Amino acid sequence: MRILLVEDDLALSEALSKSLRKQGYAVNCVFNGKDAIAALASDDCNLMILDLGLPDMDGLTLLDKIRKQKNNIPTLILTARDSTSDKIQGLDKGADDYLPKPFEMSELLARLRVMERRLGTSQQSLVSCGPVSLDITHHLVIINDQPVETSRREFTLLKSLMENLGRIQSKQQLESKLYEWGDEVASNTIEVHIHNLRKKLPNEFIKTVRGVGYSINQRAYPG
Ligand code: CA
Repeated sequence: MRILLVEDDLALSEALSKSLRKQGYAVNCVFNGKDAIAALASDDCNLMILDLGLPDMDGLTLLDKIRKQKNNIPTLILTARDSTSDKIQGLDKGADDYLPKPFEMSELLARLRVMERRLGTSQQSLVSCGPVSLDITHHLVIINDQPVETSRREFTLLKSLMENLGRIQSKQQLESKLYEWGDEVASNTIEVHIHNLRKKLPNEFIKTVRGVGYSINQRAYPG
């Protein structure tokens, strides 16, 4: 589950993303409306946590804008404004839930779990290609019906490749997936993990596209 966190309060953003990552969420932090819109256009986030008081635009304006563009990302609004009219306005503009500041982290996590459950039915939890399947919910790699141990980073990279069948993932794209977990990524990190993954995967399952990146070898492993 990947969360787009739109919050301009740096300290709060840092504290929230740290707690969320600890719970196993991947978090993409942006600090203003403009970057949020760009992230929504380019990333595949599953859920947005949106602060209403942003430096460049009102969170409600942002929400209105993206809903008009038919972006239905489930959205939890955070706000210091604790008035009923704001709440109603937020829900009218297409927010799914609303949490007034200050709040307890446990309360936020509980709300997210509810939203996730609602999402659950539409979320794909199993991704397969040839003999390899990923159980996204349980972070499990299954090869020829046998579970195979992978590290979190290896799983993240394999998932990114398998969710993008037929597309090449550049090294930078793969690195950004690891950054979402708050990981430090050294210059050879991707090569090292791909090397280790290959030892666990069927022959030539991951293809190197020289100078570009990596993809799943669909010619060798169709469907
Ligand atoms: Ca704010």
